[in-house]
Amino acid sequence: MGEKMRTIGYLCPACRKQVIRDRSAFALAASGAVVACDCGKSTLTVDAEEQRFRLSVPCGVCGGEHTAVMDAAHLLEGKGVGLACPQTRQLCCFIGEPYEVEREMERLSLAVDKEVAHENGGDLFVDSVIMHEVLSELKEIAARPHGISCSCGSEKYRMEVRPTYVDLVCADCGARLRIEAATDEDLDRLCCNWTLQIRGK
Ligand SMILES: [Zn+2]
Ligand SMILES: [Zn+2]
Ligand SMILES: [Zn+2]
Repeated sequence: MGEKMRTIGYLCPACRKQVIRDRSAFALAASGAVVACDCGKSTLTVDAEEQRFRLSVPCGVCGGEHTAVMDAAHLLEGKGVGLACPQTRQLCCFIGEPYEVEREMERLSLAVDKEVAHENGGDLFVDSVIMHEVLSELKEIAARPHGISCSCGSEKYRMEVRPTYVDLVCADCGARLRIEAATDEDLDRLCCNWTLQIRGK
């Protein structure tokens, strides 16, 4: 019978590679773990304490380092747990069954790549299908009576289209409303709105 394994994954803040390592549950419970990226610039540590673990996680999302305390049972049993970056709310570390951890890490890499494209302001739409849908939904909202307005009273606005979002900018007061346009959830969120209002000055 094989030993029960747990997989630990995080995204290296230095080189942005996925770091995914297996540890036996037995070894984890006994002495914790140190997981390092091949680039040598980041290390995740799991310290075993009585009935719990203390984790120190390099965060590939915000670039910081986060600490957390977790029940031993939580970390050693079940499909898996994720740790969220307190800055961005994005999950930045996963521990659990290999398949779950790999899947979540793929998702995380994608999300972070989108974020980087966003910061770089490239003119490539990360997900052009979503962007297309978002733009046509905005067009529909704009066609409704008072569809897009500003709380300053203006109904004149311009659109600034970026790779992962669209800004609606009030032509009178300059206030902005950001419409995220990178994921299916962004589209769902937009479609919930019958009208949109920019919070004006
Ligand atoms: Zn690295
Ligand atoms: Zn973080
Ligand atoms: Zn305004």
